[in-house]
Amino acid sequence: MIDVVVDRVDAVLDAAAEVAATLATSPPSPLDGDLGPWRVLLDGDDRAAISARRFPSDRRRTLAGRLVLRSLLLDRLGRSWRDLPDLLVCRTCDSCGAAHGRPRYPSMSLSSASSDGWVSAAVGAERAAVGIDIEAVRETTWSGFDGAALHPVEREHFRRHGSAARPRLQRWADKEAVLKAAGVGLRVDPAALRIAEQSSTRTALRCAPERNGSGSPLEWRRVVVSPTSAAEGFSVAAIAAAPGEGGAAASIASTSPDDVRLRSFAGLDL
Ligand SMILES: [Zn+2]
Repeated sequence: MIDVVVDRVDAVLDAAAEVAATLATSPPSPLDGDLGPWRVLLDGDDRAAISARRFPSDRRRTLAGRLVLRSLLLDRLGRSWRDLPDLLVCRTCDSCGAAHGRPRYPSMSLSSASSDGWVSAAVGAERAAVGIDIEAVRETTWSGFDGAALHPVEREHFRRHGSAARPRLQRWADKEAVLKAAGVGLRVDPAALRIAEQSSTRTALRCAPERNGSGSPLEWRRVVVSPTSAAEGFSVAAIAAAPGEGGAAASIASTSPDDVRLRSFAGLDL
């Protein structure tokens, strides 16, 4: 089972502020700035990462992303909100040792992503090697997208199916999810990576009762051509956009396609 949260930044922060209010022993201080209501839920690394963001919208997105990943991990571990500030997610960078690397926790694989007003996180077993990406859907892609992002075979496929932005952003999310899961990120040319159009494995997407689409199949498509051996053997699936999520395209990648349990932050059982 792979656990996934896809949610809006605002919804996460509203729900988290309610949790924080039940845990706080003193009211938020003006000295805490815009982190105030959530401070009790954060560890030192989180606070440093959030404070490093210059714009309030970026701080809110980073805050929500950190909270979603750590809370989903807590849920998976069967622990409660009180354990949140002490849950140590390591982010040591493989290259330079700074705290901006991919998130790690013993015997688990973790991934998180955000885009505009959206955050997402995935937690799976270590062998699942999960990666997640989310893209806020816009009217158009950036200029030169097809040439920079799509493999020549994909380019031809997309050209036959028109100029719509959403399927292209979904494919971009597919590729980012795979390259993150493989631990290489955008050091690899995404246009050299080709993902199958047809699914080869089908698992179940299990949604919380408040969401529609529960039990709908999840179609996993394989990496067909990869410029790096690190990304071979991965499959990727689009997370169906439930009502209210029409504004984002999310993709989950893994070496072992499995059922996905999709929830909102407020739906976590902590
Ligand atoms: Zn680094």
